[in-house]
Amino acid sequence: MSELNELYQETILEHNKNPRNFRDIEDADKTAVGNNPLCGDALKVYVKMDGDVVTDVAFKGSGCAISKASASMMTQAVKGKNRAEADQLFDEFHRMVTGELDIEKDENHLGKLRAFAGVLEFPARVKCASLSWHTLNAALHGDDAVSTE
Ligand code: ZN
Repeated sequence: MSELNELYQETILEHNKNPRNFRDIEDADKTAVGNNPLCGDALKVYVKMDGDVVTDVAFKGSGCAISKASASMMTQAVKGKNRAEADQLFDEFHRMVTGELDIEKDENHLGKLRAFAGVLEFPARVKCASLSWHTLNAALHGDDAVSTE
């Protein structure tokens, strides 16, 4: 399982074990569900907004370590951001895991999210890593469901 060994960096393992914001938000302003049928990842994202700012964001669901860790780190990254900043992070994250953005050379705001740069080498895992972001994007833009297929 060398693929997994390379992928499961310490940060990802830790977030999988202790996912942050792993709960629902009863009075969420926006929610969306996301499914990655290839791997069996399924999650729901809850967003609480104050005007244009994401004041709280959480998720529930089940899936592989990468999808769970990515969702956990996504919630930390977008909390307190406005919609445009969240959109920018989604765009940068997506371009990182698909190889369009070079985290060493290209300016970006990814910070800890760079832990997922390695999934680029494992195409089947790209959808696991980006599922929570696609789901957040759907929630923020009024879609209630997203599937990576
Ligand atoms: Zn997965």
